[in-house]
Amino acid sequence: MKLTFSGSTETVTGSQYLIESEGKKYLIDFGLYQGPDPISKLNRREFPWNPSQINALFLTHAHIDHSGMIPWLIKKGFKGLIHSTNETFELCKILLLDSGKIQNEEYKRALKNNPKAQLPLYTEEEASQALDRFIIHEFNKPFNIDHLKVTYTPAGHIPGASSVQIVSPQSSILFSGDLGRTDDILMNPPDAPPKSDYVVMETTYGDRQHDPTPPLEELEFYVKEVIKNQSKLIVPTFALARAQLLIQLFKVLFEKNPELKIPFVVHSPMTEKVTQLYKDFSSCLKISKKEVENWDEAARFIHWKNESESIDRKSGPAIIMGASGMVSGGKIIDHIKALGDDPKNIILLTGYQAEGTPGKEILEGKTHLKISGMKVRIQASVHQLKSLSAHADSHGLHQWIDSMGSKPKKVFLSHGEEDGRQGFLEVLSKDDYNVEVPKLDATYNLI
Ligand SMILES: [Zn+2]
Repeated sequence: MKLTFSGSTETVTGSQYLIESEGKKYLIDFGLYQGPDPISKLNRREFPWNPSQINALFLTHAHIDHSGMIPWLIKKGFKGLIHSTNETFELCKILLLDSGKIQNEEYKRALKNNPKAQLPLYTEEEASQALDRFIIHEFNKPFNIDHLKVTYTPAGHIPGASSVQIVSPQSSILFSGDLGRTDDILMNPPDAPPKSDYVVMETTYGDRQHDPTPPLEELEFYVKEVIKNQSKLIVPTFALARAQLLIQLFKVLFEKNPELKIPFVVHSPMTEKVTQLYKDFSSCLKISKKEVENWDEAARFIHWKNESESIDRKSGPAIIMGASGMVSGGKIIDHIKALGDDPKNIILLTGYQAEGTPGKEILEGKTHLKISGMKVRIQASVHQLKSLSAHADSHGLHQWIDSMGSKPKKVFLSHGEEDGRQGFLEVLSKDDYNVEVPKLDATYNLI
């Protein structure tokens, strides 16, 4: 078996790996590179293989940095099937279509200033064709593809997220996918990894431990602030996983402290669709279906412009949440435009803000921005939650690989920034693991 690192060797996006075995080729994930140039330019690079030569694709989870180039692959001639869990498929129905829509919108916007603007990687219609190729597998139920045995094991992180083990007659390899944390509020912890000769691990938080501040304490502080100032808490967040986690946290906060219960609206059609799906995902959640259904008591989804404007205008404290997490678009921009210039209001960022995104600029104190073609002025105080990541930290990653029971022949580290990869390389090297940090397009013989 031969392994090639086709993506995500130097970043936390663009997850792509190629396996070659007995003359056939398989991909594990085919994710979009996200971020400003030169990172996003990698989406248009030439591959040394033809998409029509790929026999099958094994998808670890639905996040766009793992799935977002699949429609492109099909457009370029991929004829095989896409193997995933049911939850991953259900989420891809929402995420891939949204990705196609966003790309088309960005293309149309760019066209106004540049008649030669680059065509989108794919449109919503092209993304929808990818959905016909999915084939669903259950966790921990091995299946055979050609001469390979493939098993999906739960990886925590988000619903459906899996580690994927591939066993050939010569050797076995395990792709961690994105690994969740053992203390996640909604997701069950990842399963122990099955014994494998080789392991490819993500290293998003390879050099760090999570902040121990309980997230409920952080939220309590900000809710008390907006009650005191009779102002608004504006929460741009990620529609998948982070939004549902926040709804659960606000619900618990309101139950424990009824005096803190203030109007809480969610203005994001995509968040609403994903939240609806969580009711069917309760088997991979730590909380019951009933509890997910009770989210409606804490949060109200709003849909119409008049509802949106009325919450902005209404006096008194309120929480307004919506996508996107890095403030690059979505309905939340309307609320930031309406409320962001009042110093009494709070903008609460809920996760990592990549370089070049409006979220990063707001965090760094920029007061005048143009987002999705709209001029926005920021006078509100800006904060960032410390403790909501859906990834295992350095300790969690180490614990996970240790729970394999015996050391693999080699552990490859990818899907991390320089500090994450190097930090975790040190951790595993000290523990006598044979570790390697591959370069882009590096190929290894797995024997
Ligand atoms: Zn992920």
